[in-house]
Amino acid sequence: MIELQSVTKEYRDGPAVRQLSLQFPEGKTTALIGPSGCGKSTVLRLILGLVRPTSGQVLFDGKPVGEATEIAIRRAAGYVIQEGGLFPHLTAKDNVTLMARQLRRAPAEIEKRVKELLALTHLESDTMSRYPGELSGGQRQRVGLMRALMLQPKALLLDEPLGALDPMVRAGLQTDLKSIFQELGQTVVLVTHDMGEAAYLADRIVLMRAGQIVQEGSLDDFRQRPAADFVTEFLNAQRGMVAL
Ligand code: ADP
Ligand code: MG
Repeated sequence: MIELQSVTKEYRDGPAVRQLSLQFPEGKTTALIGPSGCGKSTVLRLILGLVRPTSGQVLFDGKPVGEATEIAIRRAAGYVIQEGGLFPHLTAKDNVTLMARQLRRAPAEIEKRVKELLALTHLESDTMSRYPGELSGGQRQRVGLMRALMLQPKALLLDEPLGALDPMVRAGLQTDLKSIFQELGQTVVLVTHDMGEAAYLADRIVLMRAGQIVQEGSLDDFRQRPAADFVTEFLNAQRGMVAL
């Protein structure tokens, strides 16, 4: 569904990803995990065409991501960034429906979709008339998720969607995300720095370091067959892993 073919992205201070080859299979949830600065967000931006590879290529649904395809790809991919990325001067509903209105979808169709998404994300309908500043962190993330799902994307790209939330809110949203992923059966790329979250939500975990893959597999693979010392160090550094 999504493929990176030996992709390098150089910035002034060095490469953010280095000759990275990675496939995201259709209908599966893949977690990208690794220390801050290892290139996780850059991978999502490359998939969306928000940044261009220095070398290598990215394929989305079999087509190379580039000038000719990037508009279609951004429409086919729902994207949720940390903190939700909602427009503060628009109500929750206007945030959710912005693209659909720009694309001149029928108002009745938009209303129907908003209702479906409220049910899916477990939000009360009265949240829709509020501005992002009037919502809790968890509600904001749910609105961000509604916005990403509005146009029924083929793929869902989530960049640390639960990073800023307190543990209880986070746990609630994790449970809901899991059932949403199962219900929709979409291709999901989830960036997280929490191994427990990756193991709970993803079919497969890709551990990155310095723009490259250290190991991919399941939490069990990482524990029982670590590909490098770094894998064990990363697991040991995760709080709460004892309980998993
Ligand atoms: P992560 O999401 O894993 O924390 P990022 O993909 O955001 O990491 O960043 C990877 C590396 O690329 C970091 O060293 C970061 O400083 C650098 N980087 C990311 N975006 C830019 C940019 N627009 N300009 C310069 N350097 C950048
Ligand atoms: Mg990031």
